[in-house]
Amino acid sequence: EKKNGVLHVVVFPWLAMGHLIPFFRLSKLIAQKGHTVSFISTPRNILRLPKIPSHLSSLINLVSLPLPRLDNLPNDAESSADVPYSKQQLLKRAFDLLESPLTDFLGSSESKPDWVIYDYASHWLPPVAARFDISRAFFSCFSAACLAYIGPPAPLVNGQDFRTNAEDFTLVPEWVPFESDMAYRLHEIAKHLQRSSENESVTPDTVRFGFAINESEVVFIRSSDEFEPEWVNLLREIYGKGKPVVPIGFLPPLIDEQVDEFDTNWVGIKEWLDKQRVNSVIYIAVGTEATLSQEELTELALGLELSGVPFFWVLRNPPESTQSVFEMLPHGFVERVEGRGVVHLGWAPQARILSHDSVGGFLTHCGWNSMIEGLGFGRVLILFPMVNDQGLNARLGNNKGLGVEIPRIAQDGSFTRDSVAKLVRFAMVEDSGESLRIRAKEMKGLFGDRNRNNQIADEFIRFLEENSPPRLTI
Ligand code: UDP
Repeated sequence: EKKNGVLHVVVFPWLAMGHLIPFFRLSKLIAQKGHTVSFISTPRNILRLPKIPSHLSSLINLVSLPLPRLDNLPNDAESSADVPYSKQQLLKRAFDLLESPLTDFLGSSESKPDWVIYDYASHWLPPVAARFDISRAFFSCFSAACLAYIGPPAPLVNGQDFRTNAEDFTLVPEWVPFESDMAYRLHEIAKHLQRSSENESVTPDTVRFGFAINESEVVFIRSSDEFEPEWVNLLREIYGKGKPVVPIGFLPPLIDEQVDEFDTNWVGIKEWLDKQRVNSVIYIAVGTEATLSQEELTELALGLELSGVPFFWVLRNPPESTQSVFEMLPHGFVERVEGRGVVHLGWAPQARILSHDSVGGFLTHCGWNSMIEGLGFGRVLILFPMVNDQGLNARLGNNKGLGVEIPRIAQDGSFTRDSVAKLVRFAMVEDSGESLRIRAKEMKGLFGDRNRNNQIADEFIRFLEENSPPRLTI
């Protein structure tokens, strides 16, 4: 039974930390307005979420749907962080099998859902929701520029994707927000998007995007009109008049609410950071999906060593590998940098570390979450994109003067320790990097200010309230 005007919103993200986290923050914003949320994921992912603040606990219902098991998918694999990058599509196949339990949930929920907010991966969800008369919102965790690169949804649905001819960059349509000198990176992205179609039993990502956008009533994006007016407006243009594109702000992390769950080892980390000088430390992390190759690991390590700058480096063991990432580091590296540099294995309380005064810079893989977190704390960015949308985010960062990118060699994507050392010194210590550091600090309000972002988010919640279908209330 539902009170008048109170919405029931179902939230269903793709199984990746970079999606679960923003969808969870979005859920908290909705609950803060007194609406109820059913946040749906698999058991292990539900356990990975930060704690729900007590004043919202009666409004956010965490729903676990077990992930159907598939051959070749390890039993405990429930998120993209649990499988090697090459197995992401297999995880999507298991994810697609959630259609039936999710349909059951939507159809049998005691309080009828008004909205379902979903991700690009669940291209099968909109028709199910429509059947139950539930409104459909597509939420893009990506930057507007990145979504613009994906293009208008209609041709994608029909399997017409310019990227299938990605070798030929004269075919890149005009809505692609990037210049031809980035052909190497575009090529990498295109290769990735194509990979999904190589395995015929899995729906290609481009088709997923196509359906997810096409069949939504509104597209929410994690950005603002102020930051990306050109790309937000371009999306409005290519999606057409019938499809509102509503920026919901950047969903900055709420540090004070993170303490319990995400902040494993925080006490020890803080102790080390407290001993460092203000703005002196560079934080290095590549997110939850990309894995550094042996060569990349070596060059990064030796570059950091050469730079002489204090660092905090987060590494994780490659999934499904028996080798520890520590064994892959250059011989004697950990001993040589002792005192100046920390290598942290496993999950790190990233937002909290970035919030610490001693941290001045962030060498990032350019996941959209990471870029937002870095900029939200005014940290200077060194851009080091690896897969997915990261190249596009790096390009966006470059264009807007928010960071410097580690140059890669076009033929094979390799880079050198010298360029790492040089850029780390430029961004962190050299006088010539001062304007970059100032610019980074200027970004704090836009990306990190909670009130400012909540104001943008208010509009998106108003959209949900004003456009939900009228229901009979008892
Ligand atoms: N994260 C974290 N600790 C880790 C690894 C990741 O807190 O050890 C968080 C990070 O702060 C960010 C998210 O997980 O919020 C990763 O998302 P992002 O888009 O940056 O990268 P992805 O993992 O999707 O490549």
